[in-house]
Amino acid sequence: MNIFFYNSLTKKRELFKSIKKNKVSIYVCGPTVYDHLHIGNLRPIVVFDVLHRFFNYLKYKVTFVSNFTDIDDKIINKASIEKKTEKEIADFYIKEAQKIIKKINCLKTDFSPRVTNYIDKIIIFIQKLIENNNAYVNNDGNVLFDVKTINNYGELSNINIEKLIKNNDDNIEKKNNLDFVLWKKTNAGIQWDSPWGRGRPGWHTECCVMINDLFSNKKIDIHGGGFDLKFPHHENEIAQNKAAYKNKLANYWLHNGFIMIKNNKMSKSLKNFIFVKDLMKKYDSNSIRLLLLQTHYRSPLSFDEEKLILSKEQIKKITSTYNKLAIFLQKNNIDNIEKKIKNIKTSLEQFLLFLADDLNMSLSLSYLYGVLKKINLNIKNRNLNKCLCLFKEITDIFYILGFKINYYHITKEDKKMLKDFENARKDKNFVQSDKLRKKLIKKELL
Ligand SMILES: [Zn+2]
Repeated sequence: MNIFFYNSLTKKRELFKSIKKNKVSIYVCGPTVYDHLHIGNLRPIVVFDVLHRFFNYLKYKVTFVSNFTDIDDKIINKASIEKKTEKEIADFYIKEAQKIIKKINCLKTDFSPRVTNYIDKIIIFIQKLIENNNAYVNNDGNVLFDVKTINNYGELSNINIEKLIKNNDDNIEKKNNLDFVLWKKTNAGIQWDSPWGRGRPGWHTECCVMINDLFSNKKIDIHGGGFDLKFPHHENEIAQNKAAYKNKLANYWLHNGFIMIKNNKMSKSLKNFIFVKDLMKKYDSNSIRLLLLQTHYRSPLSFDEEKLILSKEQIKKITSTYNKLAIFLQKNNIDNIEKKIKNIKTSLEQFLLFLADDLNMSLSLSYLYGVLKKINLNIKNRNLNKCLCLFKEITDIFYILGFKINYYHITKEDKKMLKDFENARKDKNFVQSDKLRKKLIKKELL
């Protein structure tokens, strides 16, 4: 199947070709762990989980890595306010994030590296950049990357370098204002020994080092992350990898759009962010997942609770139709549905083609709603074989989109009640059959 992605690096829709046949390597920048996950953090987690599932379904061998940034000024500040260590803060929020990621039904990543476990490798990488003359130590002892030493700096984000290079907004002594910190010399907060004195790494180096360490090619197929990471983070990742290994780190760069709240970008500074843990108190994770999938991943997603209520309604409809189908099959003496459908080949071609077109989620979801209609029709027509195929089809769709939806398993008592109902009808015992009908309807068995 031909898969197409919009590649942020080339600004083109491109045919996907993996580095190794039938294998795909994916890296997604993960959250900085100084607070609970907000809905903006969750968007890339869910979007790239669907990508992971899609490749799995197509029988690619996927290696999926997403990091936790556990060194950051915000973590240091929080630790100092709460009188805890940076590790305690990071451990707590990583655990909280993992709970949410599990609840929203994401596949396990192959690795979830933390920066604090990569200090030695980061130091070696920075040394290499200095040896290659792409980095320098300034008069204050900080190590900086020299952006003028590589070609085409700014090619991902299309920034106007000449304009930006005029402002130095972080008061660090630099050759060029866009040079960025690789190692910050400091005695405050969490710190390590290095050839340049005590300090800690800057943010942009970790992903490069982790990718080079965890994937064998020094280059991956797909690098994902939020749109706001394009500049400077991803631009700087590309710059460092070009300097160290003469390649652009990833062949395809995929970026998801912002979350908008009442026409404003959701951000900490506007104090309009929504924690996922709070949403999860009121809404089930399928509804939250559906809400995040309804908008194309590259477009901004404007969040409001009305939309979440509608998603909840949709999930209810999907669940009830799925349940109705499972009950129909069980009533027709198919007790182990999963076993029965194992060898059925589904015709999900069209659904997969929608996803293969840069994850066109709205068309994929319309396809799912079409399947629900077909299910209702075939139950009505009592077409058992078609119903079995549709069960397989919807099970596969749930897998790819990451929905975790259960159906009711008919018990021995239910079966007896159904039989008694049939007998009472045959015997024209209307009092008894009415009584049983009511009970069966209540259990959604009729
Ligand atoms: Zn990153």
